[in-house]
Amino acid sequence: MLAGGLGGSRFARAIAEAIDPAELTIVGNVGDDVEVLGLHVSPDLDTILYTLSGRLDEAKGWGRAGETWHALETVAELDGEAWFRLGDRDLGLHLVRTDALRRGERLSAVTARLARAFGLEPALLPATDDRLRTWVATPAGDFPFQEWFVRRQHRDEVDGVRFDGAGDARPAPGVVEAIERSDLIAIAPSNPFVSIAPILAVAAIREAIERRRAPAVAVSPLIGGKTVRGPADRMLARLAGGTGPQHVTDCYKGLIDALVIDEADEGEEAGIRTIVTRTLMSDAEGRRRVAEAVLETAGALR
Ligand code: GDP
Ligand code: CA
Repeated sequence: MLAGGLGGSRFARAIAEAIDPAELTIVGNVGDDVEVLGLHVSPDLDTILYTLSGRLDEAKGWGRAGETWHALETVAELDGEAWFRLGDRDLGLHLVRTDALRRGERLSAVTARLARAFGLEPALLPATDDRLRTWVATPAGDFPFQEWFVRRQHRDEVDGVRFDGAGDARPAPGVVEAIERSDLIAIAPSNPFVSIAPILAVAAIREAIERRRAPAVAVSPLIGGKTVRGPADRMLARLAGGTGPQHVTDCYKGLIDALVIDEADEGEEAGIRTIVTRTLMSDAEGRRRVAEAVLETAGALR
C-alpha cells in the first residue's frame, strides 16, 4: 500500500482489519518530513504509527490522543520556533527518532523499531531513506511543504509541486521487493499530489508498479468532488482540471487497474474500471466497506 497521512492511515487500518495484518506492507510518504527545533519529524509515518497503535487523536486527524503542550508553550515563551505543532507525547517519539538518525541509523530501520515498540503488525517502510522533500510553487512564492501547509495553512493556491532530492533517491530496503511480491497493490485515498506523488517520484518505485503483475487499485480521496479534509480538491481542480474520478485516475496513469469511488461521485466518467461504495472510513463499518471493495476488485482482476 502507498499511503500518506490521514487518508493513508485510515485505509491502512481498514485493510489491516480485513486481512492478516502481517501480510500488509505500507510504503509511507516522507516528502512532508521536516526538521523543527533540531528534531526530525515524519508526519505521515507518525500518523500511521499512531493510528495503527490506537494512539491517534481522531478528532484532529493528526498527533496523539490525550496530548499536552507544555514543551511548545515554553518554546513560544522563549520566542522559539513554535509554528509547527508538536505535543509533549509526540515530542518523545521525535527525540528517539532524531537521536537514532544522528547516530547513523537509517530512517527505515528506526521506523521499524518504533513500529515494533508500538505493536504494529503491518510493516511500515518509508518510501526512501534518502532526503526527499516536497516543495510547492504558489503565486506567493515557493515554499517547503510544511511552510505552506502548516505555517501558511495551505491558503495559497498551488501552481506546481516538486520533490527535492527525488532524482537520486533510492527506495528504502524492502519497498521494491514488497511491490514485486505483492498480490495486490493499493493506493490509499491520500492527496495524489503531495502524499502519493512524492512516493512515486522515487523512480524505482514507480517502475516497479508500472511493471506489476498484481492488480493495482486506488481509492479516491474525493467524496462528492470534495475532500474529507485538506487541499486535495483545490489542487485537483487547479492542477488536473477538475474534481471528478477521471481527474484522480489521471494522476495514476499506467499505475492502476481500477478506482474505488464514493456513491456521491457515481455516474461520473473515470476512464477506468470503477467500483462504487461509501468510502468514508470514520468508523469500523466504513473501513470494512472500503477494504471489501478493494479486496474484491483485486480478486476479480486477478
Ligand atoms: P495527510 O498526509 O494527513 O494530509 O493525509 P493524506 O494525504 O493521506 O490524506 C488526505 C486525503 O485523505 C484527503 O484528500 C481526504 O479527502 C482523504 N480522506 C481522509 N479520510 C478519508 C476517508 O475516510 N475516505 C476517503 N475516501 N478519503 C479520505
Ligand atoms: Ca501528509
